[in-house]
Amino acid sequence: MKENINVDVLIKGGTILTVDQKHRVIQDGAITITGDSISGIYSSDEIPQELEAGMVIQADGKVILPGLINAHSHLAMTLFRGFVEDLVLQQWLERVWKYEFSVLDDKAVRAGSKLALVEMIKNGITCAHDMYWHFEQTMEAAEEFGFRLLSGPPITGLGDQAFDEMFAQARKTLAWLDSLEFVYPIIQAHSTYTTTPKMMHTVREFKEEYGITFTTHASENQAEVETVLEQYQQTPIHLLASYDLLDESTLLAHCVVLDDEEIELLAKTGTHVVHCPESNLKIGSGIAPIAAMLEKGINVCIGTDGAASNNDLDILGELRTAALLQKGSNRNPELLNTKQALEMGTINGAKAYRLENDLGSLEKGKKADLVIINFDKPHLTPVHNPAANLIYSSGKSDVETVFINGKLQLENGQLTAIDEEQIMAEVRSISEKFV
Ligand SMILES: [Zn+2]
Repeated sequence: MKENINVDVLIKGGTILTVDQKHRVIQDGAITITGDSISGIYSSDEIPQELEAGMVIQADGKVILPGLINAHSHLAMTLFRGFVEDLVLQQWLERVWKYEFSVLDDKAVRAGSKLALVEMIKNGITCAHDMYWHFEQTMEAAEEFGFRLLSGPPITGLGDQAFDEMFAQARKTLAWLDSLEFVYPIIQAHSTYTTTPKMMHTVREFKEEYGITFTTHASENQAEVETVLEQYQQTPIHLLASYDLLDESTLLAHCVVLDDEEIELLAKTGTHVVHCPESNLKIGSGIAPIAAMLEKGINVCIGTDGAASNNDLDILGELRTAALLQKGSNRNPELLNTKQALEMGTINGAKAYRLENDLGSLEKGKKADLVIINFDKPHLTPVHNPAANLIYSSGKSDVETVFINGKLQLENGQLTAIDEEQIMAEVRSISEKFV
C-alpha cells in the first residue's frame, strides 16, 4: 500500500494558467501547497490518489493564476485618491508635495498603506513595489499582513545638504530590512530631476555593494525630458547611462518619452521597464512605446503608480488598458497579446526584481502566491480562451481567493485576517484634515 502524501492545501479542478516557460494551461488539474511553497502541480491524469490535504478547495469553473505583481506604486497615496484631478504632472506634483509635507506623518502613512494592501489583496495582487515618505510604516504594515513588498530607502533632494544623513539612514534601513521576511530590499531614487549627480553616483555604489535592484522614474513626460535636457544636456535615459545605472538590476518606471536609440540602449543594457498606462493617461503624459520595447526584447512589467494618479490599484485593469493602448495606438491588433499581458502582470515583475526563482509563475518549488478567479459568471461565459477572458472580460470583483506565502488571505472575496472596516474608518478620519 502506498503512503499518504500530506499537504496543507489541495486546489482541485478549474483551469490553471501556470505562466511557466511553456505557458502550460492545465484543465481539471490540481495544485498543492505545503508550508509556504507550491509542493505539486498536476494534470488531471497525474493527480495522486494518496493526497491527504488539510484544506481542499474545489475550483471547478474557476481560473487559478500566479499572484499579480504591482511593480510600481506609492502605497499610502491612497490617502490622496480623487484629491488632485485634471492637472499635468508638474502641477500635479506641486499640489501633492505641498499636502504631503503638511499632512503626512507616521500614522497617516501606516493607515494609507494598510488601505492599499487591503485593496491590492482583494484585487489579486500578492506583491507590490512602494516608494514613499515614512516608508518604514509601509514596510511594517506589509510585514504585519504577510504581503510581499519591494521597497527601500528613497533618495531625493535638490541639493546635497542632507547627503550624509540620507545615506547613513539608508544604510540603517537596509540593515533593518534583514530582519523582515516580507520586505525585499531595493535602492530607489525619485528621478534624475529631483536628485543630484553626487546622489546618483552613491546610489550606484549602494546598488553594487548591497547587490540590490535600483528603481527610479524616468522619461515620464515631455516636460521632464526637457527639464533634464536643459540642466544636463542629456535626456533622463542618457543621464542614467552616464551614471552607469542602466543594467539588468535597474527598473525604470514609465519610459513614455523614448526615441529609438534610447529603446536600443535599454535593450542592450538589459534594463527593465515598468509600464503604468492608466497613470500616464490620467496625467496626460502619453502612451509609452511598449510594443517597440517588447519587440526589442526589453522585459516590461506593469504597475499602477499611486492611487492619487490612477485612481485604483488594479493590475487586471492595467493589463487590459495596456493591451488596448498598444493595439489601438499602433493600429495593429497583433501587438501585446494576452500571453504577453499575462506575463507583464506576473513573471515579468518577478524578473524585474530578480525574484523569478520564487515568484511569478505556478511551478513546483516556487512560493505559494496564487489567485483564484471565479469564471462562473455571465460576463465570463463561455470560456474559449481563459487568458483572453481574464484580460478582457474579468474584473477585480471576480477575484475570489488569494494565497500569499501559503497563507489564505482572501476567501470567497472576504479577507481572512485583516479588519478592513477599521482601516477604512481610520483613513476617512485622517482624510478629513485635507482641505
Ligand atoms: Zn511613480
